[in-house]
Amino acid sequence: MRRALLDRTAEGGCPHIQDPGDPPLRICTTIEEMRTACRAARRAGKRLGFVPTMGALHEGHLSLVRAARASSDVVAASIFVNPAQFGPNEDLAKYPRSFERDRELLEREGVELLFAPPVEEMYPAGAVTWVTVEELSGKLDGRSRPGHFRGVTTVVAKLFHVVEPDAAFFGQKDAAQVAIIRRMVRDLNLAVEIVVCPIVREADGLAMSSRNAYLDAQQRQRALVLHRSLMRVQGLAEAGERDAAKLLAVGREEFTGESLVRLDYFEIVDPETLDPVEDVSGGALVAVAAFVGSTRLIDNILLPSA
Ligand code: AMP
Repeated sequence: MRRALLDRTAEGGCPHIQDPGDPPLRICTTIEEMRTACRAARRAGKRLGFVPTMGALHEGHLSLVRAARASSDVVAASIFVNPAQFGPNEDLAKYPRSFERDRELLEREGVELLFAPPVEEMYPAGAVTWVTVEELSGKLDGRSRPGHFRGVTTVVAKLFHVVEPDAAFFGQKDAAQVAIIRRMVRDLNLAVEIVVCPIVREADGLAMSSRNAYLDAQQRQRALVLHRSLMRVQGLAEAGERDAAKLLAVGREEFTGESLVRLDYFEIVDPETLDPVEDVSGGALVAVAAFVGSTRLIDNILLPSA
């Protein structure tokens, strides 16, 4: 029985405990192999859930897998460190890679199919075709990381074509990415449901990220300013402040005096258009990005409509 043994996590999710009767995790490294396996599942009438990742898995990723597991018959994941979404001076070469550990974690969570292609498989020599969500891709992280979202939407579109999932699972952690992928799916009439899962945090509030591994002990401590700034804004909003300028001032102020941290942006925007809002009464996304040493971290909260 697939769900014979269930346990509960601190977040309230249900991790799947592997059962001896479960099928083993199948690893596909070519597009053809993955496409054939996914099609076979769908032709057998199975609902296929898909979790795209860049590996170096943590509880945030696993929460997506658990959400997929809970609402799909077959769960597929991908591990692909996508060169197209890294800028020339970014951390592509040193991005953490832990394939064997990741494979074990996914198998334990009951994932059936893992797509882990080499770069040449995803980007054949001479590939010049891109998927770009205009305008939105230049906002928030897209402003600081030119070309980043073009790389994301191109690879996600390609992965969707390979896997053809019924539903794909993304983290609210990457709020701009969520808005951009939703827009791509809508604009291109893709037949995939986008499911967004809440941010999973460490006990002290730091949003889990593969990049947290870059932080030394002192930086790890200083990194808490991101979450702290968001909590201050949330507190003020809950107390009735609706003026985005006032909320922004309080959030940004938290960064003054943080000598190890350089604020990249602190913004309050519409969660769909990513345009700044003046008043948060209709609901808003409060998003922050900051460099802690040379590590760029992001975090956000959603303010509900009043
Ligand atoms: P990445 O491997 O960083 O590309 O992330 C793969 C997916 O995991 C994306 O949809 C992320 O938004 C999601 N994710 C990363 N960190 C978290 C987190 N702390 N909580 C929830 N989802 C996350």
